[in-house]
Amino acid sequence: MENVEKIADDLYVLKFSHREGSFVGITIVLGKKKIGLVDAGFEATPMNYLFPFLKELGRSPDEIDLLVNTHRDRDHVEGSKVIKEKTKANVAIHEYDAEAVEVANIKLKDGQIVELGDRQFEVIHAPGHTPGNICLYQKENKLLITGDTLCGEAIQLIRMDKNIYINSIKKLMQLEVNLLIQSHPHEPFRKAVLIGEETKEGMRASIDYAEKKA
Ligand SMILES: [Zn+2]
Repeated sequence: MENVEKIADDLYVLKFSHREGSFVGITIVLGKKKIGLVDAGFEATPMNYLFPFLKELGRSPDEIDLLVNTHRDRDHVEGSKVIKEKTKANVAIHEYDAEAVEVANIKLKDGQIVELGDRQFEVIHAPGHTPGNICLYQKENKLLITGDTLCGEAIQLIRMDKNIYINSIKKLMQLEVNLLIQSHPHEPFRKAVLIGEETKEGMRASIDYAEKKA
């Protein structure tokens, strides 16, 4: 089952279920001439959901020029190989998670600027869930794409020292954010797109869950 959330004329989240009651979302940024992706989903995601969806919009997978993976987990990166093979896209991931994506030809660092569609994003290194976990921040639209940075109640997903995780989220709380896109429906909002006050509440809740962790 897949489901699409349109956020702006050039911005979509394509969600597909991976287990009962949950989903993985990939973000699509449609530029005038090129398409940017955040995360690739599972191996079957590009052929089964992503490419057909782009065709429905009258766009071609050939227009994908950049795929940025938020971190190393298979529900996010596995489709990278197919995207690399079937399109002209460059594939990027943070240098600390790069071993998980053989086809990655761009190793990202904190502070780097990437262009997805016609939008520019700053790479924000936010370790905690994984060592090379990143967020993408677009200051002028106060848009933050967090991937799995906020684990919500699912504290078993925090694979590093919890203080590293908490500090990463505290860094994000300094940013002006009005729209937050996350990959899974964690507590407390159980949805992909958080708006206005929800963005800070979601960050605060993830810190609280982690602080209660033994
Ligand atoms: Zn995930």
